[in-house]
Amino acid sequence: MNLEAAQLAILVLPGLAVGSFLNVCIHRLPRGQSLNSPPSRCPSCDDRLRWFDNIPVLSYVLLGGRCRTCRAGISIRYPLVELITMALFVIHGEVFGWSALLIPRLVFACAMVVLFAIDLEHQLLPNVITLPGIIVGLIASAVLPPGLVEAVIGVLIGGGVLWLIGEAYFRYSGHEGMGGGDVKMLAMIGAFLGWKLVLVTLVLSSIAGSLIGLAVIAFRKGGMKYALPYGTFLALGALVASLAGDAIVNWYVGLY
Ligand SMILES: [Zn+2]
Repeated sequence: MNLEAAQLAILVLPGLAVGSFLNVCIHRLPRGQSLNSPPSRCPSCDDRLRWFDNIPVLSYVLLGGRCRTCRAGISIRYPLVELITMALFVIHGEVFGWSALLIPRLVFACAMVVLFAIDLEHQLLPNVITLPGIIVGLIASAVLPPGLVEAVIGVLIGGGVLWLIGEAYFRYSGHEGMGGGDVKMLAMIGAFLGWKLVLVTLVLSSIAGSLIGLAVIAFRKGGMKYALPYGTFLALGALVASLAGDAIVNWYVGLY
């Protein structure tokens, strides 16, 4: 194992531990529950989880995906979120190295994981994440890339573009197409990544949304109006933009 691999391995355990905390956020934030109390319980039998039943991924595997007491199935989401968060930590370490920028980008990635999961399940993007996210993103961008000016323009474009699309759609069709949560989420993305990567996020999430939307229509033989949570696609697009957006922008500019 070379030094670089050893450094990346350092990110595995914090990644799993943070992933475990993100599971708590994903479960409790949409239900308006406190994050630090009460201690974790089985949602089925209300039995309090012991520390050894709360070890990321490992406990799920050892328990066979079932509660020790009542044998109710535990959602596969728990180990998945832990593994995905761990993978994101390692990928961020690889992309950003041991730079100061690694910290805000990891915070950003964690927020995207939580918003992705909550929007998928509840069609909801909680203000308790997006609004402080805008502030934290602006503070980080004031001292680190992309810089405060890029970030402020990002907030304005991010919030403004989606608001305009939503307003136009509302006037044209008479019903709401995009929730205010999407607008605040894209403003947060702008605060962390700057306006260029907001545009990259919009393009990537539209492509992902169209492809998956077409697949859903094809497999459901149309006719069925299935609302796809847009925040889920925004989270995917923003993660790719954060990790590879500068390369994408440079490639695109190089075409002309
Ligand atoms: Zn139980």
